[in-house]
Amino acid sequence: MLDTVIIGSGPAGLTAAIYASRASLDYVVLEKAGYSGGQIVTTNELDNYPGMPSIDGASFAMALQEHAEKLGANIKEAEVTSIEKNADNFYTVKIAGQEDILTRTVVLAVGANPRNLNILGEQQYLSRGVYYCATCDGAFYRNKVTAVVGGGNTALEDVLFLSKICTKVYLIHRRDELRGDKHTQEKIFATPNIEFVKSAVPIAIKGDKKVTSLEIEYKKTGEHTDIDVDGIFVAVGMIPNNTLVPDFIAKDSAGYVIADESGKTNCAGFFVAGDLRTKELRQVITAASDGANAIKSVSDYLNSL
Ligand code: NAP
Repeated sequence: MLDTVIIGSGPAGLTAAIYASRASLDYVVLEKAGYSGGQIVTTNELDNYPGMPSIDGASFAMALQEHAEKLGANIKEAEVTSIEKNADNFYTVKIAGQEDILTRTVVLAVGANPRNLNILGEQQYLSRGVYYCATCDGAFYRNKVTAVVGGGNTALEDVLFLSKICTKVYLIHRRDELRGDKHTQEKIFATPNIEFVKSAVPIAIKGDKKVTSLEIEYKKTGEHTDIDVDGIFVAVGMIPNNTLVPDFIAKDSAGYVIADESGKTNCAGFFVAGDLRTKELRQVITAASDGANAIKSVSDYLNSL
């Protein structure tokens, strides 16, 4: 019987691992991808993590994994299929093709996934001009024209990244005001090969074998136009990765697990950390903070048994 099972090895899960090691807990980290880091792996430049200016996401993820492993983290590749609560208030973590794990507590830190636009052509041109990660796939579009859809920090960072590779980048946003931070906005407005297309809603992705254009509708006039592009990067937010959240755990209307920074859910022994929980700011630093707090909560709970 383990003290805790940490599911997910992004900044929340790996920080939880670091704190679990320091608390001498008996634990394992389960990660279904063959690598650690979560979403951060695909971030081009992490510019706001204290003490690490301008580090790229993949290097940050690697440093985080090395740190956790140096302190004794056992990170196992495993696809968790369900989490069950037993009559004695312990948990059974079921894993595809591997033995179940019995544990006193669970820290679920599996994050969130990109949201789709759900428009004509999006699925048809998936990976043939439609992508959800500019830092992963942007390099295919060197000296080409691309569009980024969205107005949050992810979209703004994607636009800046692509502007260094592409001849031109359109930033397509459904409102006049961008949601992402002002500092990044200033960089965008100062970059000559970025064009901000405001109050414009994507209607259809068109092409032949590959994407050739994006049809948009200007919200204020109702006018439709086709913008010629070679690639489209969708960055319209996230959907919580909540398929492993058992029915007895309370979620909000958007599907995030209801928990404050302690990571405590409505169910004793079941904790959540990172982007999967209800919070104002989903960033690496808040995910890391969640991982630390969740293990404090785990330790308090174990001491109370
Ligand atoms: P986000 O902040 O939720 O922004 C999503 C954007 O997509 C919004 O501008 C939204 O428009 C737009 N949108 C949503 N649905 C749409 C649709 N169907 N069609 C067209 N546009 C749509 O998501 P995010 O940019 O992925 O960021 C998620 C969190 O991570 C945020 O808290 C962000 O600050 C953080 N983050 C931080 C960093 C960093 O610090 N380096 C980097 C990336 C992300 P509206 O504005 O009109 O709602």
